[in-house]
Amino acid sequence: MTGDDAIERPYRLDEMTWRDVEAALEETETLLLPVGSTEQHGHHMPLGVDVFMPEGICERVGERTDCLVAPPVWYGVSPHHTFKPGTFTVESETFQRYVFDICASASEWGVENVLLVNGHYLAQDPELDVVVRELRTKRDVQAFHVPLVSVFEDAANEHRTTEVSFHGSEFETSLMLSLRPDLVRMDEAERVDPPEEALPLTAYDAYGDNRVGWALSATDMERLTEAGNVGDPTAATEETGAKLLENAVSQVTDLVEALEAGQSVV
Ligand SMILES: [Zn+2]
Repeated sequence: MTGDDAIERPYRLDEMTWRDVEAALEETETLLLPVGSTEQHGHHMPLGVDVFMPEGICERVGERTDCLVAPPVWYGVSPHHTFKPGTFTVESETFQRYVFDICASASEWGVENVLLVNGHYLAQDPELDVVVRELRTKRDVQAFHVPLVSVFEDAANEHRTTEVSFHGSEFETSLMLSLRPDLVRMDEAERVDPPEEALPLTAYDAYGDNRVGWALSATDMERLTEAGNVGDPTAATEETGAKLLENAVSQVTDLVEALEAGQSVV
């Protein structure tokens, strides 16, 4: 719904009544669930980054389409970040069941498509992949796992200036400068380089061929970084963030519109 004469339509479930939801379900069968984590993001960013990013993207998709946006999942699988205070983590199985149950309840009242928009990408990808399979095979829900790195990949490759952006660095900091500049302390941002001598299949970058990146321990992370981030957040800009954001919003919007038009994976 776009244009100056568009009627404002509620899309955030936490601000709607059940009758609003009932009316919205006449127009849409799609629910976006921002899934994040509350965890350390270096000296320069707050603990809520992994929720603020997917929530900001989902809200913009909610403005552009008829879909609904669920309250986010604030706690995720973050055992590797507990070496700094303020990080919460839940067991893999607990997390899987919780996210599955949230989505399964939405399927009870008419939601047919669920997008798990994952701000804590890499680390909880395996769990969300399993949730997607369970929703599809057990509840006949058209579920998708949408890690942010996948939906802003084109813009990231085109506009990045650093070789390593792994955690709390160029990508996340740029997105936060675009979404919540009030919460970013650029004067406290520190560059942290990963080890030069890395084993094969352990490249430390969001797009690196890193087969253990989702399975790091708190001890591994403590060895990797004193500040908490891995990569160079000082290279982040609001402009890069706006490009990542627009890329992500348009990709997710395309997926929602295709699903609403009746397309499916098969
Ligand atoms: Zn993060």
